[in-house]
Amino acid sequence: MKVSVWYNNEDIRIEEVPRPEPGPREILIKIVACGICGSDIVEWYRLPRAPLVQGHEIGAEVVKVGKSVTKYRPGDRVFVAPKVPCMKCDYCNSGHYPVCTNVKDRLPGGFAEYVVVPQYLVENGTYLLPDQISYDQSTFIEPLACVFRAQQLADVRRNQTVMVMGSGMSGLLHVKLAKTKHCRVIATDISRKKLDFAAKMGADITLDAAENVPQQLVAEKSGMADVVIVCTSAVEAVEQAWQCVDKGGVVVFFAVPHPDVNVSIPINYFWTRETRIITSYYCGPPDIDAAINLIETGKIKVDDMITRRLPLQDVAEGFRMVMAGKESLKVIIHPNA
Ligand SMILES: [Zn+2]
Ligand SMILES: [Zn+2]
Repeated sequence: MKVSVWYNNEDIRIEEVPRPEPGPREILIKIVACGICGSDIVEWYRLPRAPLVQGHEIGAEVVKVGKSVTKYRPGDRVFVAPKVPCMKCDYCNSGHYPVCTNVKDRLPGGFAEYVVVPQYLVENGTYLLPDQISYDQSTFIEPLACVFRAQQLADVRRNQTVMVMGSGMSGLLHVKLAKTKHCRVIATDISRKKLDFAAKMGADITLDAAENVPQQLVAEKSGMADVVIVCTSAVEAVEQAWQCVDKGGVVVFFAVPHPDVNVSIPINYFWTRETRIITSYYCGPPDIDAAINLIETGKIKVDDMITRRLPLQDVAEGFRMVMAGKESLKVIIHPNA
């Protein structure tokens, strides 16, 4: 079978490997759709594990099950989480699933024709897709789950003002989710095209991030934001976040600047204004359940975010599109097309 092996963003190769066979408690899935995630192109984050087969936003069909597997059978449509926390340790018990120390198995990357799902993920990380969710739509389950968790942690509530800095894929999902809570949403980006997307997807106010953002808020007769969600690694956004968060508000780092960049925090200013800073990384099982429900019920529509569908041999092309960012939102790979 063919897999797409990522060495770095400029070196992505299609390689031939033997098609894996599932063990007694494993399943073999055929990847129908796999999204390219914004985090896939972040080299400092991915390079330590390279070369690797990327792709963690998977919609697949079960084609073969091990002899001890009773929960699934060939033909089932599934989403599989890339990794699953134990749900038993202290971290899991306090909701910090992403830092669970007992994560055993990782799902092999989905930019491949087939993947064997390890036993632990068969038992705890595989979800049957409801009929209402297409394979393409299922590629949004994982990113939406991450977005859902971040807004839970920030306690985004009805009628609040939410500012989303960076209107790429995850930023737009934040816009959509905040709109389901009837929030007033302000979206920023340096790309006019992305701001147009944000407006189309429900943002009430869109601001050019290259201009003075706090000043634009005043011009828009807008107050400051109860919640500011940083969805870009651009360091300029950090300073803007400090200036746009209201008293008693919270800044959420959903994305962070490069690790070499030092961020300084106006801690005294925050202290007197009771401003909180939180981070949100990845998601957990309850968030995946919530994301599936949001897509299944149509509360969050995702079809309008899909800009390209490409066959496996064009993964490199897909990465270039996501890196260029201008015209593309969600690029989905169809490895068996
Ligand atoms: Zn992702
Ligand atoms: Zn755990």
